[in-house]
Amino acid sequence: MSGIYVHIPFCKQACHYCDFHFSTSLKNKDALVKSILTEIDIRMNYLPDKSIETIYFGGGTPSLLSEKDLFLILEKIYKQYKVSKDAEITLECNPDDLNNEKLKELKRLEINRLSIGLQSFNDEELIWMNRAHTAMESESSVKRAQDRGFENITIDLIYGSKFSTLNNWKKTLDKAIALDIKHISSYNLTIEDKTKLGHDFKTKKETAIDDEKSSEMFLEMIDRLEKSQFIHYEISNFGKEGFFSTHNSNYWKGAYYIGYGPSAHSFDGVSRQWNISNNPTYIKYIDEKNDAYFEKEILTEKERFNEYILTALRTIWGVNLNYLKKHFNDDFIKLFLNQIIYYIDQEQVIVHNETYTLTEKGKLLADKIASELFV
Ligand code: SF4
Repeated sequence: MSGIYVHIPFCKQACHYCDFHFSTSLKNKDALVKSILTEIDIRMNYLPDKSIETIYFGGGTPSLLSEKDLFLILEKIYKQYKVSKDAEITLECNPDDLNNEKLKELKRLEINRLSIGLQSFNDEELIWMNRAHTAMESESSVKRAQDRGFENITIDLIYGSKFSTLNNWKKTLDKAIALDIKHISSYNLTIEDKTKLGHDFKTKKETAIDDEKSSEMFLEMIDRLEKSQFIHYEISNFGKEGFFSTHNSNYWKGAYYIGYGPSAHSFDGVSRQWNISNNPTYIKYIDEKNDAYFEKEILTEKERFNEYILTALRTIWGVNLNYLKKHFNDDFIKLFLNQIIYYIDQEQVIVHNETYTLTEKGKLLADKIASELFV
């Protein structure tokens, strides 16, 4: 079973922290949808297995697409693949797009999982982020979606801006819990170079909050969400039983996926490839059937090993010794087994049934530990 990702590279306005690929001009929208349809046709042999378990519309802001645009893309996917009857079909949306009409459209399209980018419940912070919605719109969009029968809803939250004191963060978490949603993805604000925020940090207009405060908020989030039946199944992801993101979980477990649209990534077990992050050039190359619309690298065993350690260690499923034995050479495994002892001694990793997972203490250092385990 594989996954399909479709990147919709348009947003109403640029959030000040965001370095994803998107354009705030919708002038190429129709041409781009047409190119995605062509890309689905020309890459129909990319995945070795045509059975699809998940479809994920990400961006950008996929909720900016019309019902017709989404229908055409889904129709093409269903034509070229064997999509399972109970496939998870996720659409990322912004709260300000989720009016009753939009929700009706998404129901008709059989989208069964909504990922709503709330980010914050604080209007001042939303303005600072340059989000296109208010806190009230965020809350009402979730309630409207629930009233329309969407049960599988995830929201995004960001912590670690100058507005997030521990007290504010507790209130944010409580509000999120009260919304009775099934899944939360939450990220520490990162300062990316080519963003407005990155520029403001460079010119000292803004300052970062310290790591200690971020760690405090991260631990508070684990504590509060776990007390409300959320399972911390990946460093940045919490889901209630039966509501983990299948699409992302498969990705973390090394499943194959194909990505369509500008900047989308694909993985077939051997190589990784990524489409050009430029809308007009993507459209032009796809039209000309010119392969320059993507770049590709064949992954070495070392790269595959490091990638597995990085992603698996962040999850509840951990690094599994049998998986290592099946996929990697003895030298890599010996090195891993030697190195992991230190982290077990430090109580940052625990081992159970030949599976290595992070302890709470280890979760604070996830990426550092993973990089130290690289070969
Ligand atoms: S955070 Fe989402 S809505 Fe904001 S610019 Fe990035 S992709 Fe667009």
